[in-house]
Amino acid sequence: MTTVKEIIAEMHDHTPEDEALIQKAYTFAEKAHAPHTRYSGEPYFIHPAATAKHLAQLGMDAPTVAAGLLHDTVEDADVTEEQIEAEFGPEVRFLVEGVTKLGKHKYRGAERHAESLRRLLVATSADVRVLIIKLADRYHNMTTLQHVPEHKRKRIAMETIEIFAPLADRLGMGRIKKDLEDLSFPALDPDAYKHALEVRKLKSKETEAGLQRVQKELRHALARKDITDFRTEIRIKGLWSLHQKLKRKDDDITTIHDIAALRVIVPSIDNCYVALGVIHSMWRPLPGEFKDYIAFPKPNGYQSLHTTVLTSEAGVVEIQIRTQEMHKKAQYGVASHMSYKQLGKTASANAFEKLSIPWIRDLVPGLLQLPKKQAVPEPDEHKSKKAPRNAIGPSWLADLANAHGVDGQSEEFVEGLKRDFFSHRVFVFTPRGDVIDLPMHSTPVDFAYAIHSELGNHMAGVKVNGKLVSFDTRLRNGDIVEIQERPSAHPTAKWIDFARTALARRHIRNALEIQAPNPPPAPDTRKERKGRPSKPKR
Ligand code: MN
Repeated sequence: MTTVKEIIAEMHDHTPEDEALIQKAYTFAEKAHAPHTRYSGEPYFIHPAATAKHLAQLGMDAPTVAAGLLHDTVEDADVTEEQIEAEFGPEVRFLVEGVTKLGKHKYRGAERHAESLRRLLVATSADVRVLIIKLADRYHNMTTLQHVPEHKRKRIAMETIEIFAPLADRLGMGRIKKDLEDLSFPALDPDAYKHALEVRKLKSKETEAGLQRVQKELRHALARKDITDFRTEIRIKGLWSLHQKLKRKDDDITTIHDIAALRVIVPSIDNCYVALGVIHSMWRPLPGEFKDYIAFPKPNGYQSLHTTVLTSEAGVVEIQIRTQEMHKKAQYGVASHMSYKQLGKTASANAFEKLSIPWIRDLVPGLLQLPKKQAVPEPDEHKSKKAPRNAIGPSWLADLANAHGVDGQSEEFVEGLKRDFFSHRVFVFTPRGDVIDLPMHSTPVDFAYAIHSELGNHMAGVKVNGKLVSFDTRLRNGDIVEIQERPSAHPTAKWIDFARTALARRHIRNALEIQAPNPPPAPDTRKERKGRPSKPKR
């Protein structure tokens, strides 16, 4: 059993008050869960205690760690939210409530999938710490998955791989993403898991000795360039990730060169490029394999230089070069910006409102391509949104990193998130849970046209969260929007004022022209192509 001392020892920064809060939450939760056991037969409380320890390791603040201890008390131990608030204050209540609302084990195929995601987004849009607690919760549950009855195991693993691992990835939390994937893998496909394990064993044995020699040579060469304050490590590819690659390469293991990669961690960005120069002058790089994720960070903020070189010592070797800061971000992602000092008063002030938003767009490759019901026509305009994620990743984080400097202060970074991106988009949902991404202040008119031009052209009424509203209602993050259609309904000129998106305005103008065959040309439509439907956007 994880002790309260162990949890507090893992916290990066804490006051005596924090310590008292954690101690109190620990005692409270342990007592509340006393009658319960896990599938393994162990006391239930091992689970929240382990979750809290993980949150402390991630550098989360005291209310989050306390909420980790308490996260199952409402759902599983008959504690009320009011009790939590009375004992631990509104912030801890807010976090526990957020996690509780996400529910448990809801995944039942496509419909549930969308619903789980919708809940996650709405909860996370209020405070991303809720999602981080949920990830730590899921992580511990996955480490004990073997005790869960077999018929449930696969469903939980599926949900983890399709929802939680991609969410962790979106948050840049590389370590937990990899762990969640590899913990899910054996339950999803035991044979493929064994195969990947064997391939990895075989290949890494082959390369490990060689990599040690490469590592040694590189150390000497870097030292000659006066880079002495650095370290190297060998990183082993995750099994799920290896499995995906094997599938792409038709199981041809001779074409896979990154099972073991060499990682070089240097003090500064300058050193990264110096190290790259050293490496390329020692070993010939393979053409087309060099990637500069420092100048062009991945959408989740990941930064490093990647190159693949041909060595006499170990054959083809992938080398990753990064700073310590990049290394930390690559492992802990958004959590590394959530340290104690930045948070504090955010829950009530909603400072992280909308922090969930942007990664949804390319979250789970299949997510926005759920089997369609008849009720919602295929979209004709926003195909780009439904494209697989590698088609066009949203570059929100990369843009931010560029705008604020890659080594910008955490506070500035988080401020940047709020100001530059999150405050400019809203995500709303169809009644079936499909996500529609719109600019801030969009209305049901924008929503309808974003789904399909015909839906917009025959919109007769609209319900937001089950209530009839007017067409100029501003949609808010998390709203569920239901458009009512009538064949005789048509747009009016007023709609142009309601529309926030260029797409909707264009469709409305087209529709108005058709209704009134000879209108005087509106001056602001001159530049637009007429007489043909707009193409999917790139
Ligand atoms: Mn739990």
